[in-house]
Amino acid sequence: MYKDIATPTRTKEILAKYGFSFKKSLGQNFLIEPNILHRIVDFAELSERTGVIEIGPGIGALTEQLARRAKKVIAFEIDQRLLPILADTLSPYSNVSVIHQDILKADVQQVISEQLADVEDIMVVANLPYYVTTPIIMKLLTDRLPIRGMVVMLQKEVAERMAAKPGTKDYGSLTIAVQYYTHAETVMNVPRTVFVPKPNVDSAVIRLLKREQPAVAVSNEDFFFTVVRASFGQRRKTILNNLMSHLPNGKQKKEQIEKALEGARIDPKRRGETLTIAEFAILSERLYDFFS
Ligand code: SAM
Repeated sequence: MYKDIATPTRTKEILAKYGFSFKKSLGQNFLIEPNILHRIVDFAELSERTGVIEIGPGIGALTEQLARRAKKVIAFEIDQRLLPILADTLSPYSNVSVIHQDILKADVQQVISEQLADVEDIMVVANLPYYVTTPIIMKLLTDRLPIRGMVVMLQKEVAERMAAKPGTKDYGSLTIAVQYYTHAETVMNVPRTVFVPKPNVDSAVIRLLKREQPAVAVSNEDFFFTVVRASFGQRRKTILNNLMSHLPNGKQKKEQIEKALEGARIDPKRRGETLTIAEFAILSERLYDFFS
């Protein structure tokens, strides 16, 4: 077994050998604690039949742990300067391929068809670049990829919003967007001290396991999410006021909105944050008749 890339001394050696300087704009905070990486990999429950998609391998700290436990690892890295470093650090692992691409622009479905056709199970595992965590997660969910789920490190505050329960301060449209597709759970908090450079925010690892079907059945997904976003428009406002202010022509359609709320048995004075995803679905179905 090779010495872990993620130890502080080995990381320092690699960075010095290549004269690598961190780019803050690319969210480059590398992990230097192998135990944390082992735990992340444990949460992903990989087997020799699993293919892994990693976003942002950096110098390969997590990639190598994944390569030791999975059948194949495909890692998307945006920073060209890291490619020769990865070719060096990951040279012992023949089951890794690095793709030099912005994950937000990548056709991940095509990459899966071409490179992961021979695996039985696909997981996304990553220490995400924090400036784009939400767009990355939402892209991977809305692309409806054939993945089992994701185990990803991100800002603690964002993880809490994604895994929130109704009636809490963290519960909002991001919660619904993520939980519509997945079962979400924060599985580990991570201190700032295990990264170089140290980030300015606390971190957490979230596990998102894809539901077989979305959490609720709705006639029109776009309209459902429009209703959800409108309901959280201003957190202190009642659901009625938010829907009137934030749905198209909402003010003119007050009566219809009241009728939909009544039909869905939702008190118009409630706040959006108290509605369960099932209640949002019923409400959106009632409203759809008036807004489609
Ligand atoms: N996996 C490494 C680790 O845990 O030490 C590095 C994680 S670092 C938080 C994020 C990585 O994502 C960096 O290597 C950065 O260059 C890369 N990155 C940033 N934006 C990206 C994007 N849009 N697509 C792919 N990779 C990106």
